[in-house]
Amino acid sequence: MQTYQGKSVFGGIAIGRISVFGREEQVVRRTKIEDADAELVRYAGAKAQAFTELGQLYEKALKEVGEANAAIFEVHQMMLEDDDYNESVENIIRSSMVNAEYAVASTGDNFSEMFASMDDEYMKARAADVKDISERVIRILQGQSDAAGMTDEPAIIVAKDLAPSETVQMDKDKVLSFVTVLGSLNSHTAILARTMGIPALVGAGIPVDETVDGKLGIVDGTSGVVYVDPDEQTLEEMRTKQAQELEKKRLLQELKGKENVTLDGRSIMLYANIGNSKDLATVLQNDAGGIGLFRSEFLYLERDTFPTEEEQFKIYKTVAETMAGKRVIIRTLDIGADKQCDYFEMEQEENPAMGCRAIRICLKRPEIFKTQLRALYRASAFGRIAIMFPMIISVNEVRRIKEIITEVKRELDALGVEYGAPELGIMIETPAAVMMSDELAKEVDFFSIGTNDLTQYTLAIDRQNESLDEFYDPHHPAVLRMIRMVVENAHKSGIWAGICGELGADKTLTRTFLEMGVDELSVSPASILPIRSIVRNTDLSREEA
Ligand code: PEP
Ligand code: MG
Repeated sequence: MQTYQGKSVFGGIAIGRISVFGREEQVVRRTKIEDADAELVRYAGAKAQAFTELGQLYEKALKEVGEANAAIFEVHQMMLEDDDYNESVENIIRSSMVNAEYAVASTGDNFSEMFASMDDEYMKARAADVKDISERVIRILQGQSDAAGMTDEPAIIVAKDLAPSETVQMDKDKVLSFVTVLGSLNSHTAILARTMGIPALVGAGIPVDETVDGKLGIVDGTSGVVYVDPDEQTLEEMRTKQAQELEKKRLLQELKGKENVTLDGRSIMLYANIGNSKDLATVLQNDAGGIGLFRSEFLYLERDTFPTEEEQFKIYKTVAETMAGKRVIIRTLDIGADKQCDYFEMEQEENPAMGCRAIRICLKRPEIFKTQLRALYRASAFGRIAIMFPMIISVNEVRRIKEIITEVKRELDALGVEYGAPELGIMIETPAAVMMSDELAKEVDFFSIGTNDLTQYTLAIDRQNESLDEFYDPHHPAVLRMIRMVVENAHKSGIWAGICGELGADKTLTRTFLEMGVDELSVSPASILPIRSIVRNTDLSREEA
């Protein structure tokens, strides 16, 4: 048995034969031509066909993986129309009197090297796209078809790299998983794979040749390991793991795509809580209607220096694109209390849970806040991002936040940077915010109740102190009354209110929340389907059985 480690793009277990994806190496010969005009006509014809093919791929991707992911094929169409690219091809044909295949191959190599040498990770990733469009045009010029070399049997596809167009063209019924040696987690191929829900790895140090081709393989998409020729014990363990996943999937299959609606017609949004873009796979697997809480502070906690605007932008953009038009609520950093970050160089505090945390840091140190807001606004051009602010206690704080947002938008306008119109919401996790919720509701688009902190501040019990567990009662009537009050005040102002604290996943309260008119529950991805099941079996018009 050989094992190879890769980076996980999407979880799940796949067991099956390995098929090395043989993208036929394109052999491009340099031949002399007599008539440059005729060659340019050939090039124009191939380009037009490539344009049509990309349009068809766009339509296919649109149906299968959503608009945001399909957009890559529009980008490819734009690249194909790019003046610099076309001038380079035409120049090579005319000045060297060579065939169009050769001119396109040279231009593709030059442009892709240029992109690959850029510092910006996003631009680097575009190198694969230029290569992809060039190979398409060359294939058309050489009169080859567009069929990706797939086997008849479902297989684990192992490839050096996969172009986005190759990923989308794969017949999903024949692909158990795919594993590539190259490719970044941010590449469009990775984003497409996540959305397609196929166990997938990139950056795997696996040989792409006959030593693995046709052999039995196992891909553990969660741990990022590929096993080739697995021994009996590994095979057994993985079969058990796969069976457990299949059982979960069975539940998923029954409920996937179904509405979160009670027997008497009350509906509720079921969203997922995440701490990282790596969690997206489970979000999609569990059919979340959106992301109700992206705890962005984890981006800050997992490192030793401030994440830059660019680093944050890429992550938020990936999340927005992967969720393909579904709402993604990103909470601005909630550092402090139990989430300490040395490089913030915060003063030692007597009582950090009541100290300088979350929005208080952001308002005291607007340069940190503005970096995150710029990243969020830029990413909002790529999906349905909503921004949520933690630990709010007053209307004034919200107004101050809006002033800072105005400054950020002005700065982006001055730079000519595009951004969307994200909804703005606040967390209701302090008793002050509950009591002010009628006023606060006039300022924002939504509320999300953070019951973890709301319970600690309402009951005056440190949520970290296990020795007080017997007193820490999240079902305390004070907390439940507060939730009711917040929902009522939200509705009076025509906005929605959800719960993103752990209480939202408490199945013994699902009916109570529905009765209160809670509009959304944001829970861990694995809780979504079990709660959907409860919602669908609840009848609010009848007494509880
Ligand atoms: C909460 O307080 O309920 C919440 C969702 O935020 P966190 O748990 O991250 O403090
Ligand atoms: Mg909180």
